[in-house]
Amino acid sequence: MKAIFVVGDGMADRPIRELAMKTPLQAANTPSLDKVARNGICGIMDPISPGVPGGSDTAHLALFGYDPYKYYFGRGPFEALGAGLDVAHNDVAFRCNFATVNEDMLILDRRAGRKIESADNLAEALNCLKLNSFPDILVNFKHTTEHRCALVLKGPGLSRMISDSDPNQNDTHILPIVPLDDTIEAARTANVANELTSIFYKILDGHPLNEIKRHKGAHVANAILLRGAGTLSKEIKTLNERYGISAAVIGVNALVLGVCKAVGMQHLKVDEATGTVETDVKAKAKKAIEAIDRFDFVYVHVKGSDNASHDGDFDQKILSIEKIDDLVGHLIDNIDSRESLIIVTADHSTPVKLREHSGDPVPLAITGEGVRTDNISRFSEIDCSLGGLGRIRGIDLIPILVDLMGKSKKYGS
Ligand code: ZN
Ligand code: ZN
Repeated sequence: MKAIFVVGDGMADRPIRELAMKTPLQAANTPSLDKVARNGICGIMDPISPGVPGGSDTAHLALFGYDPYKYYFGRGPFEALGAGLDVAHNDVAFRCNFATVNEDMLILDRRAGRKIESADNLAEALNCLKLNSFPDILVNFKHTTEHRCALVLKGPGLSRMISDSDPNQNDTHILPIVPLDDTIEAARTANVANELTSIFYKILDGHPLNEIKRHKGAHVANAILLRGAGTLSKEIKTLNERYGISAAVIGVNALVLGVCKAVGMQHLKVDEATGTVETDVKAKAKKAIEAIDRFDFVYVHVKGSDNASHDGDFDQKILSIEKIDDLVGHLIDNIDSRESLIIVTADHSTPVKLREHSGDPVPLAITGEGVRTDNISRFSEIDCSLGGLGRIRGIDLIPILVDLMGKSKKYGS
């Protein structure tokens, strides 16, 4: 048995007054999600643990069976892996922003206008830099989307225990990076990061592409803000090593892709997918249907529902849920339920009224031949809470799926 696993990022929510106290999932028209619920087994799931709002990174680790409290050492390495940079276990990785600063390093816009022309070329000028004071450190730098980039430092004696240079607001100075513990490594890494910050500024501020921006009156992308320093846990074995399943991911969000790559999934690109509500769900579904011939486990990530939630836009959220429903409809129509499970859930709740992740559990439904059923016929936070799976934790999910796939090992004799 194989498995196609669909996650609507931040899809779960709370009752909303404007929707007659329904959640967006309850208010949306979701015949296909409901079919999965009706034909399969349902439950609710605490991605991390009850009441703990997960990030997309920690929650995805948990959904793939890796306890984030044991395997998570910062966001940076996942961003960098997702951006296509190589991250080894001794490297320290960051997520970064292009920013606009004045000559006193006062931040005028910590996203440099967000839409940055020629960002790839600007990033290229920062890649493979040499530092005079630290000749043994290798710098890998790459632009991802809009103002976002990733940075990986390679070399001896590095530590993730350093602060951010990003103050998270405009009209403040770039923060000096400081060590967060007493080790030589943390002090050295803080020095490396501070020296890099000033070299980045020198290169970017004088870059011909920024001269063009100045002439046009556009935002100059002349500084890099660093945050989320992290390392990759040595202990993360791939899904194949752990369970003997080959896995692939369909999605575009760098952070989530990074987690998927860290657990050994192969990234399958879909040209039409953009990570917005407009994402071509048909193209994603088609790719998943093709991929399930070659892989045991195909993970499909849809980001739009989380973006709509952060924007506080429940109409948009309902729309993106209905797109996920479309995607699942294509899967149901084209997948042989005797050969593959279909699993639908969210990585965390992002209530539109909060505009942030919350610690509420998320609905979960699993369908496929041999899967027990229950009396649930609607896919929602409320309906699924009465289902046969009861209430489980994120890290319980993969063992359940691996068992349904017939790949579990007996405990005892
Ligand atoms: Zn998420
Ligand atoms: Zn979010």
